Amino acid sequence: MSPITHFFMGWAVANSAPSLGKRDRALVTWASVVPDLDGLGIIADRLTRNSSHPLNWWGDYHHILAHNLGFALIIAVFTAILAKQSFKTTFLVLLSFHLHLLADLVGARGPDGEQWPIPYLMPFMKEVQLTWSGQWALNAWPNFVITAVLIGIAFILARGRSFSPLEMFSSKADANSVRALRTRFPLKTST
Ligand SMILES: [Zn+2]
Repeated sequence: MSPITHFFMGWAVANSAPSLGKRDRALVTWASVVPDLDGLGIIADRLTRNSSHPLNWWGDYHHILAHNLGFALIIAVFTAILAKQSFKTTFLVLLSFHLHLLADLVGARGPDGEQWPIPYLMPFMKEVQLTWSGQWALNAWPNFVITAVLIGIAFILARGRSFSPLEMFSSKADANSVRALRTRFPLKTST
């Protein structure tokens, strides 16, 4: 699925534990996006396209380098060091990361029909390649529905909890968005 979908999926997972603070929420959210870092090779490929040694990092590494258990363990260690609620956040980071793999498995078929098999046990065992025959395309309607639902959840959470994913980019934008949301959809005050 697209990084946008992964981002909001991670945000939903991060908010499943209301006790998590801002830093831990960010760790859980980005754990759902970070596997796609292995797709950044596309930039190097584009830059070297007309050179005498064009690279093929996208084809060689996307869905391989960071879509696996080895990378999940690196992220888990990183989280255990950085998180305030180490145990809970590391668990949610692993969940968030694996939901990314699951989402790709079910809904990330390429336009050319490429299934992007997931070598889940890398770097321990290279032979295991996960695919699902029912996989739908990256731009198929279920992905739009899932993304819309996840964004809706982010809105509901922002209204109720007074913070949104914008907190990871700008506190001011975050506060403004929550205020705008509550003006449009006021919270019921009990009498
Ligand atoms: Zn992915």
